[in-house]
Amino acid sequence: METVVKVLIDGASDDLTFSYTVPKGLSVVAGQRVRIPLRNRGAIGTVISVEDLDISSLPYELKPIGGLVSKDPFLTPGLMKLASWISSFYLTPIESVFRTMLPKPSRGESEKRKTEKVVSLSDSFSSAVLEGFSGRQVKQKKVLEYLSSNGTESLARLTGALGFSRSSIKALEDKSYAIVGERIVTRDPLAEVEYVESKPLNLNEEQAEVLKCVLASAREIETGGKVKPILLYGVTGSGKTEVYLQAIQKAIDAGKGAIVLVPEIALTPQTADRFKKRFAKIKDQVAILHSNLSEGERHDEWRKVLEQKARIVIGARSAIFSPITNLGLIVVDEEHENSYKQDISPRYQARDVAVVRGHLEKCPVLLGSATPSLESWSNTQNDKYELTIMSQRIDDRKMPLIRIIDMRQESRKAQAGPTILSHKLRQSIEERLSNGEQTILFLNRRGFAKNILCPECGYVANCRHCSTTMTLHRKEDRLVCHICGFSQLPPKSCPECSSKSIVNAGYGTERVEEVLKQVFDRARITRVDTDAMRRKNQLRDTLNDFRANKIDILIGTQMIAKGLHFPNVTLVGILNADVGLHIPDIRAGERTFQLLTQVAGRAGRGELEGEVVVQTYTPHHPSIQFARHHDFEGFADQELQMRRQFGHPPYLHLVLITARSVHQQRAEFSLKTLHARLAKGLPDDMRLTEPLPSPLVKSHDQWRYQVILKATSARKLAAYVSQVMRDLTFPSDVIVTVDVDPYSMG
Ligand code: ADP
Ligand code: ZN
Ligand code: ZN
Repeated sequence: METVVKVLIDGASDDLTFSYTVPKGLSVVAGQRVRIPLRNRGAIGTVISVEDLDISSLPYELKPIGGLVSKDPFLTPGLMKLASWISSFYLTPIESVFRTMLPKPSRGESEKRKTEKVVSLSDSFSSAVLEGFSGRQVKQKKVLEYLSSNGTESLARLTGALGFSRSSIKALEDKSYAIVGERIVTRDPLAEVEYVESKPLNLNEEQAEVLKCVLASAREIETGGKVKPILLYGVTGSGKTEVYLQAIQKAIDAGKGAIVLVPEIALTPQTADRFKKRFAKIKDQVAILHSNLSEGERHDEWRKVLEQKARIVIGARSAIFSPITNLGLIVVDEEHENSYKQDISPRYQARDVAVVRGHLEKCPVLLGSATPSLESWSNTQNDKYELTIMSQRIDDRKMPLIRIIDMRQESRKAQAGPTILSHKLRQSIEERLSNGEQTILFLNRRGFAKNILCPECGYVANCRHCSTTMTLHRKEDRLVCHICGFSQLPPKSCPECSSKSIVNAGYGTERVEEVLKQVFDRARITRVDTDAMRRKNQLRDTLNDFRANKIDILIGTQMIAKGLHFPNVTLVGILNADVGLHIPDIRAGERTFQLLTQVAGRAGRGELEGEVVVQTYTPHHPSIQFARHHDFEGFADQELQMRRQFGHPPYLHLVLITARSVHQQRAEFSLKTLHARLAKGLPDDMRLTEPLPSPLVKSHDQWRYQVILKATSARKLAAYVSQVMRDLTFPSDVIVTVDVDPYSMG
């Protein structure tokens, strides 16, 4: 008998595995990364399975693996199972799932770990030695004294900040009192920050009830029961984070680990700090993964988790793949957030993956939101999830008063140009300024003008690579496509009719900032969006300034919509609630409701009461009216009724299939062929739409056509689609993508 491993080679698109033997003395487990001989070159792959086989009867000879990439298996047994679920549910090759699970530097041949020179005391040193130093050797003595009270220190720091000379250290080395060696540098992005421990708060009744429910779920699982995810529907400011913190503490106390997912945009320094502070005593056991980390930093954080040094991971979407063994809790904060869905392959939804991982690894899953997704909400209604509710803000603080301003009337009163500030909002801001209170203004569109157009002939500046208009960014004086990033100089006159009267239509955050600075010329105003926050740590610094009351008005995009907690903010203005409402998307209404509720939730989080002013051109829209009355359940009821009627999620699962190509006709033709094959033999319980151009028919120079397939079972849909696709080949310049449970309809 010999140990034989099946290896999936990196880059293999068809999930084909190869078998190899394992040289004596090497121990290999599934999930390990190995080097293997492949034809005449070497390759790297992931071990899928290990078995003992009698290879003498095989008709061919197996080669041995070349060696291990790393001693530890990078993928835990739990992650191996999860990868195979993702692969079959989202119709993605397993190799591409592995690639998503492992951060880039960890996939390579050998990990490049940064090292530094360090100086430490040798065994022949003792404090008695110090007496032998006098006169000109006093400098050497100082080094020894430093090392004996501070321990090992980096050479760079000794000779730099600490001001010792290289020659004194050299002399000590020669006398063999000191040793110069190397150590691995871990790039800890928060290493220099000191955290003051925050003590657990006394939970109120509602909070205690939720914590009890999580603990009961954990006990239930311990005794062989099923994992039933818990949905925490807790209004903004009801203290959800405190519940997460205490639930995590319980998991740690039980010797287990925890993963907390937060949406990328909510992963502000403020959120990270709350976790770091609570677990300040075990700071090194907390890993924070966000997209602002350099590749090296990310890798180091991941390494800490792999080695089980970090037991708490806080991160965006892909943190769900953290190699924690013995999981005790998974929290998904703001579980309704769309950013949990990855929009490139594998197109997984991290919240759903979290639920599956909890199931596979037998650990409680807590989903929290002030505006639960209709998927999760309906899962509580049909008893798949458990529902817990926190309906009160902490200390019975009131929900902010929401006023709706009808901008149709405001524009009638206004003179030229877009109406950015209603009379009411302007007045409210003035009041805040004179009271020394703060204001947040929200607009989900960056740039200066939404687009530029010619009133004479109707020309609109479009992107030449996408079927969309270009946004004017005035500071850079560029027209920018927000889809593909293409930019060009704005025309001075109309390219079609040469008219000079070309105008800026609509407005973005840049223009709002300009207008505000004119209207409130004494106020301190700062803009927060991806254009304004380019410098590393700039967001962190800006938010600190805002907290320290150095800023009166913060204008921002969705970067400031989530999770921020500023007690002195008593006014929130939503400048145009309709952005996002009229896009062709099943969830447009749901998203608008969520956004309004979340943004409004930033107001009145301190002692002072909050007010929210919502400017809209469609004041009677249900999303706006239900948000105004803080009525999530009312919104959910009517929206679900509509979804049921139209056969939309969560009642039916969708699969969106898109064919794209730089050649319009080929994209269209390929999609039509695919449509015909899907239509033939379509199971009775499935529905198929007509082949249509995607809403954004051209993007990045590619033409896009799509069909949507619907059914109650996502698994059946996936099986049917993969069966049909298996027998089809497309021209090499046509790319066909399949999106199970899509969030964007293209
Ligand atoms: P949410 O996440 O639900 O919006 P937070 O967790 O941010 O709410 O809580 C809002 C505020 O209330 C925070 O300042 C938090 O420290 C405070 N808080 C939470 N729970 C308690 C409690 N039990 N007692 C006192 N203050 C609390
Ligand atoms: Zn013109
Ligand atoms: Zn473009």
